[in-house]
Amino acid sequence: MRKPIPVAKAVELVMEHAQPIGVEKIALEHTYGRILAEPITAKHDVPPFDRSPYDGFAVRSADTYGASGDNRIAFNVIGEIGAGHVATQEIGEGEAYRIMTGAPIPKNADAVVMLEQTVERPDNFTLRKPFTSGENISFQGEDAKDGEMLIEKGAFIHPGTTALLATFGYAEVQVAKRPIASILSTGTELLRVDEELAPGKIRNSNGPMIAAQLTRMGIDYKSYGMLEDNLDACTEMVEKALAETDILITTGGVSVGDYDYLPAIYERLGAKVLFNKVAMRPGSVTTVAVLDGKLLFGLSGNPSACFTGFELFTRPAILRMMGAEKPYMPRMKAVLGEDFTKPNPFTRFVRAVWEMTEKGPVAVPAGFNKSSAVSSIARGNCIIVLPSGTRGFGAGMEVDVLLLGAEQGVSDWVL
Ligand code: AMP
Ligand code: MG
Repeated sequence: MRKPIPVAKAVELVMEHAQPIGVEKIALEHTYGRILAEPITAKHDVPPFDRSPYDGFAVRSADTYGASGDNRIAFNVIGEIGAGHVATQEIGEGEAYRIMTGAPIPKNADAVVMLEQTVERPDNFTLRKPFTSGENISFQGEDAKDGEMLIEKGAFIHPGTTALLATFGYAEVQVAKRPIASILSTGTELLRVDEELAPGKIRNSNGPMIAAQLTRMGIDYKSYGMLEDNLDACTEMVEKALAETDILITTGGVSVGDYDYLPAIYERLGAKVLFNKVAMRPGSVTTVAVLDGKLLFGLSGNPSACFTGFELFTRPAILRMMGAEKPYMPRMKAVLGEDFTKPNPFTRFVRAVWEMTEKGPVAVPAGFNKSSAVSSIARGNCIIVLPSGTRGFGAGMEVDVLLLGAEQGVSDWVL
């Protein structure tokens, strides 16, 4: 008899066994999608000097006092500072430098007059309002102060992170290593994608789907193809895949049918089964085992269950192995767009499509919703979560929604 455990407990068990696999230093240009293994601390002030945020004129604010429409004040232009250049003189009373965006403020100047606020003549310009000290200046360190802690280790590296790393001269970055996954699809009924249908057979959709789910995460994998339901052959292949990779994902063969051999394989290999039944639909047979510190994900063969099992358990485990501090799918509240009348003895994960409307985010189930469904996983862009013990939901009710494919996750699993 299998005893179902709550989803949150299953996630916790998996995460307890997902161990980071080390760090490495790589070139900045290869860091997109990796996890920082060192914090980013400011190595200098940003900006590193007071600079002009506009094209205009650098002036001494005191010289602008009293300016008005009736009393335009004129300034002599003593030179020009383009971005990347430094002024050669200090400015004196009634003097100004023409200055471009990004150029350092010259000595004695304490305000910048935008070009649009002046009337220009060949060697001078006039303005019609007073400026305060500091007006239109980007101050040294206003963005980040030397030594300031900016991004914690364990953060996902996205293009904005890359910009910050580049700012401080990180040509190489210490990141967490990524695990290499293995994928093995089991089932005597399975055909390759390029094979013609034959009686009793279906094409293997789970293998390519898992490969794509891994690719979306930037994870390399080795595919061990498809195997017929044969205990010896499957055991051998599982052993080989485990020896060659950091984490094994199998699909199919975890139920209680006559040819579901994964439980026997775990036993033969001496793997410790963390759970073999989860109080969820689809995917209640999802099984996770550990052998020599490596996780073995036994996902259901049913496509919707397989997909959901990966997103709920495998994905955060891989992210944790990669050192991520925020490995879980982001979530939000949405209004249910249509009735969902089935009762939910177990927590139900419904593939759905969410869209923003005047009423806020609305999520609609993506169609045929059995665990065997493949069409709804293709249509869905999110997963609606209906808690166990609820007796059906009506259109307009508020539901929790898990967002798929997000670059950045969240730090806790609360559903
Ligand atoms: P199993 O988990 O092996 O009991 O399989 C459950 C259901 O999923 C059965 O209808 C299988 O034919 C189907 N199935 C198993 N593996 C795959 C796969 N790789 N691709 C598509 N469907 C599959
Ligand atoms: Mg099977």
